[in-house]
Amino acid sequence: MAIGAGLCDRCAHQRVVRNTRGSAFSRCELARTDPAFVKYPRVPVLRCPGFEGRGSARAE
Ligand code: SF4
Repeated sequence: MAIGAGLCDRCAHQRVVRNTRGSAFSRCELARTDPAFVKYPRVPVLRCPGFEGRGSARAE
């Protein structure tokens, strides 16, 4: 989902989480297993060594 997170919006490791006020945050699931990544990276992410494109691109 495109939420203005840059590269993360097209990455297989992104999970979009929402708070009770409806704000959306981009969470990096790679951070769960690799300490080199932060759970909530500063967005927009422009370059990332962990980026993996999603299998199917969606126009949003
Ligand atoms: S691996 Fe990089 S590009 Fe992918 S969600 Fe995490 S921080 Fe974003």
